[in-house]
Amino acid sequence: MSTENTSTPDSTDEPGDAPESLDVIAVGAHPDDVEIGCGGTLARLVQQGYDVGIVDLTDGEPTPGSPSPEVRLAEAAEAARILGVHRLVLPFPNRRLFDGFEVRVELAKVFRRFRPRIVIGLGGPTPMASPDHAEAARIIDAAVFYSRLTKWDDTFDELPPHTIEQQAWYSLAFASLEAPTDPARFVMDISETLELKLQSIRAYKTQFPPEKDRVFRLVEGRAALHGAIAGFQAGELLTGARPLGVQDLVKSLCLPPS
Ligand SMILES: [Zn+2]
Repeated sequence: MSTENTSTPDSTDEPGDAPESLDVIAVGAHPDDVEIGCGGTLARLVQQGYDVGIVDLTDGEPTPGSPSPEVRLAEAAEAARILGVHRLVLPFPNRRLFDGFEVRVELAKVFRRFRPRIVIGLGGPTPMASPDHAEAARIIDAAVFYSRLTKWDDTFDELPPHTIEQQAWYSLAFASLEAPTDPARFVMDISETLELKLQSIRAYKTQFPPEKDRVFRLVEGRAALHGAIAGFQAGELLTGARPLGVQDLVKSLCLPPS
């Protein structure tokens, strides 16, 4: 997504590359959050013909392994290229990300401009990891709400209201054995895209050097576990804001033979 009509100078898309609209936008606090949380789902959506974008609230820098923000942004652009998604990096500060009016409005402007049907947000806190994640969760939920509010266009550069049809969440709480408790839990089949997900995470060379190989074992282990539970080779566990309605019980509950 380019910076045209937004006050967001850190886009990683090339100029002129901005889509008219996006079917799905996934949001994270730092570049690599979305890839780890739901990169396989996004790659699958792209394969299925949907237009998909990632929004990072910060550039994720500084970090111990990266020499400069430019290097991290280049890694983020490469990860987006691998997944086949657009990407926008908002200029809020890593390590000092706090839920507040300004960041809610800036993210809601992105939703009003690109008019996604679904927003996939970061769900819940991550004990022992960055507190930015819990702040991002609140910011994303608020921005989904702000996006649809009427009689407030002047707050959003005159961008008209946009109602997001559904919200879902991915979890980065890898340290927990508990499943999220949101109203709906479902597993996205990422058998076809697990390798793309892993490649997109490997694009962050400064964040995942060989001594951090444990991250890949965790990601692959979770994908295998969640996939096996749902009957797929690999899966991503996501949650939704309300239980999924079923119209054809047989088609919904019985997987086609694989
Ligand atoms: Zn993060």
